[in-house]
Amino acid sequence: MKDRWTPEDIIDADRRHLWHPFTQMQDWQTSDPLIIESAQGAVLRDIHGNEYLDGVSSLWANVHGHRRSEIDRHIKEQIDRVAHSTLLGLGNVPSAQLARRLAEISPGGLDHVFFSDDGSTAVEAAIKIAYQYWQQLQPSQPDKTLLVSFENGYHGDTLGAVGAGGIDLFHAVYRPLLSPALHAYHPYCYRCRYGLEWPACDTHCIESLAGLLDSRADEVFAVIIEPLVQGAGGMITAPPGFLSKVRELTRRHNVLLIADEVATGFGRTGRMFACEHENVEPDILVLGKGLTGGYLPAAATLVTEDVYSAFLGDYSEKRTFFHGHTYTGNPLACAAALASLDIFEQDAVLDAMQPKIEFLADNLKLLKDLPHVGDVRQRGFMVGIELVKDKATREEYDWTDQVGGRVAIDVRNHGVILRPLGNIVVLMPPLCITTDQIETLVAATASSIRHITES
Ligand SMILES: *Cc1c(COP(=O)(O)O)cnc(C)c1O
Repeated sequence: MKDRWTPEDIIDADRRHLWHPFTQMQDWQTSDPLIIESAQGAVLRDIHGNEYLDGVSSLWANVHGHRRSEIDRHIKEQIDRVAHSTLLGLGNVPSAQLARRLAEISPGGLDHVFFSDDGSTAVEAAIKIAYQYWQQLQPSQPDKTLLVSFENGYHGDTLGAVGAGGIDLFHAVYRPLLSPALHAYHPYCYRCRYGLEWPACDTHCIESLAGLLDSRADEVFAVIIEPLVQGAGGMITAPPGFLSKVRELTRRHNVLLIADEVATGFGRTGRMFACEHENVEPDILVLGKGLTGGYLPAAATLVTEDVYSAFLGDYSEKRTFFHGHTYTGNPLACAAALASLDIFEQDAVLDAMQPKIEFLADNLKLLKDLPHVGDVRQRGFMVGIELVKDKATREEYDWTDQVGGRVAIDVRNHGVILRPLGNIVVLMPPLCITTDQIETLVAATASSIRHITES
């Protein structure tokens, strides 16, 4: 090991050896990589000492800011006890405490918590649990072998999660390896397939799911949805009432509802969980990203008593959920999560956030008049700014133009980090962001959008 690494050494090691996720590595070789060295609050610092406002919460994970002292302390105290011990046949202290806390704060009777490591693995567990539930129910329903998901949905990158996904750019190549889900139409009001407008449309698009379940519910074990906002699909917001209609339909047709709140959970939409906006109680709730405050990988799949009890029985009955990962329930990650939940209470984070959501909405009005901004969608602290080639016809930029990507590079000159989704510029700041920082974030974004789209 070298004992002194210059910034150039680090960049060289990264370029030669590190394969970055969701990244065209050929472009990376010729770009000027931005490498983070430290952070504080909503600000990231790179290896050259430049500072940037973290406009996307370190990929939607960070909640209360970086290096929050209470979370740091909790992790350090835990590391002096034990860093890791397995949940296979043993327990550990923070995971038991966290399971209780999650059962308490989650909607409805989601009393049983299965831990895993990241959003994809928690989705994977949810899909297997939902399928196995019907197989083990008495009397069993062996024909329920299909999952229903929504077009444009994103549930992670492991194969089960990709099977549930609906984004062709990411998912199409793997099709031969998958057990694909049936797709229902998800509302995308800016580009409504039916050419209708909400609320006059009376959420007509729910008929897609209704039709599917009318004809095939006997074969369907679950519907999986990103409640209120499809994140990676482009920050696509569903109109109010859509989610509760999905809940009604799944109840009526005897199909489980899996709410994937990996992105929307932990305050991102302005409530602790997005389902709360419509008083929806899913049968299975998937949590990840913000669970540990954005500190360490951990995720959870919460289920109702009804689902859980289908897995109980004598060992010989083979009802066990034979599934689990090495680092499941990691004590350091659980300690971070517990500290994050304490901060939500102690700082009344969700209350403090409401005026900031309004302030963000006011600032976003700045963007709506720009000639290449087609749509600005906001739900709490989740924002999608859709850039269009032609505002009147809503003609899209070709994705190979990478307008979103170019905005994200340009905005670094204004001291802001963003990560777009194709032509959609995403803002998803940590909940701790100040109003001054919100102003900076939106002004910088506006100026880069103008620079890239109007020159
Ligand atoms: C990010 C995300 C996932 C996958 O989580 P990872 O931690 O990246 O595996 C799953 N579902 C949704 C809705 C997400 O946004």
